[in-house]
Amino acid sequence: MLKILTILGARPQFIKAGSVSRKIAEYNNIKEIIVHTGQHYDANMSDIFFDEMKIPKPDYFLGVSGKSHGAMTGQMIEKIEEIALKEKPDWIIVYGDTNSTLAGAIVAGKLHIKLAHIEAGLRSFNMQMPEEINRILTDRVSDLLFCPTNIAIQNLKNEGYNNFNCKVINSGDVMQDGIIFYKKLANKPSNFYIQEEFILCTIHRAENTDNINRLREILSGLNEIAKETQIILPLHPRTKNILEKNDVLDSHSNLTIINPVGYLEMIWLINNSQLVMTDSGGLQKEAYFFAKPCITLRDETEWVELVNLGVNILVGANKTSILEAYVDLDKTKFDFSNSLYGDGNASKIIIENILNYEEVNK
Ligand code: UDP
Repeated sequence: MLKILTILGARPQFIKAGSVSRKIAEYNNIKEIIVHTGQHYDANMSDIFFDEMKIPKPDYFLGVSGKSHGAMTGQMIEKIEEIALKEKPDWIIVYGDTNSTLAGAIVAGKLHIKLAHIEAGLRSFNMQMPEEINRILTDRVSDLLFCPTNIAIQNLKNEGYNNFNCKVINSGDVMQDGIIFYKKLANKPSNFYIQEEFILCTIHRAENTDNINRLREILSGLNEIAKETQIILPLHPRTKNILEKNDVLDSHSNLTIINPVGYLEMIWLINNSQLVMTDSGGLQKEAYFFAKPCITLRDETEWVELVNLGVNILVGANKTSILEAYVDLDKTKFDFSNSLYGDGNASKIIIENILNYEEVNK
């Protein structure tokens, strides 16, 4: 029996890992143990979340949240190490680029447990981003690196990964698997008014929320567009606190500001929107999966292929660029026919590669 310890901590990681866990459950020669570090925990992540999303509930909850990066990562390492010593897994699987990812990677490296990194090879080339540091360090100690895109593969080649003792695989994106699964379960939100045509927007990334000038500029651009088309903005608590503290919200009354929505409602909103505007990594791809153009409120993106294809426009936090992109996008015809992120079989490819690695290295 192959034992896998999966480390998670943030909602997007649960959504992505759900696909892999559901697939693992089909193999009777693999046992998965799930550790929730607690990095992001709110009422939306209660038992109902796991039931609704058909995601296996975590076996361990570490309750590490709301601390500085160092304290958070350090405490996670200590607790994951204890679990790893007790459970003796053959593999640790980590996802993406959070502190939970890095903590799991460090434990695997130090205890000589094989490490699989899902969403490997992504780069923003912005070393100011904590996520960029987490990804680079995690990639470097991984045995199997599952890349979602050709560009991610190329990034690793450029960094010399061909010479390292690891295997780089283009698995496609586990998020694509998830969308296929969740599309059927999409739910129209019923607690606020939704016009026939609307734009879906989210803002949560530290580079925007920690800089009130960027936030003001973005909101000012959005408010202008919202005079014409409804903008639905499920507001992340972090963003909301900052906006309230700085008295920014009242002067942007055209926006339809709502609390964060559950994923099944989010899927409905993406699928029925005209356009997505976001600083989220995941949402840029989800927009593509539902054939919606996206205006990205960041200076760079890890999903470069979307920008190259012209379906995603990077505008940073500049009001003029936001308004220009909105007008430009309206005029353009888009091609969403390329399967940039695989064919929805990423989870299977990942598990088969882990089993194959075991077979070859017996
Ligand atoms: N999301 C959600 N409800 C919301 C806002 C986001 O379900 O109110 C989903 C979104 O569709 C995406 C994920 O949460 O799948 C993105 O999370 P986030 O923006 O926190 O992180 P990132 O994608 O930047 O890692």
